[in-house]
Amino acid sequence: MATYQCPVCDYVYDEAKGAPREGFPAGTSWASVPDDWCCPDCGVREKLDFEPAS
Ligand SMILES: [Zn+2]
Repeated sequence: MATYQCPVCDYVYDEAKGAPREGFPAGTSWASVPDDWCCPDCGVREKLDFEPAS
C-alpha cells in the first residue's frame, strides 16, 4: 500500500485507508482513483498532480 500527497495542501491519500467520504473504501488502490479526481481539501489539484509520499 502506498500514500500520495497533494502538493498544495498536504492532504494525503493512503491506499490502506482509502477516502470513504470521497467514495473510495479502505484498500482502494491509487490506480483505481479516477484521473480527474480533485483533492478533497483544496480542490485545486487533481490526482495527476499528487506526489508519492512515504
Ligand atoms: Zn490539496
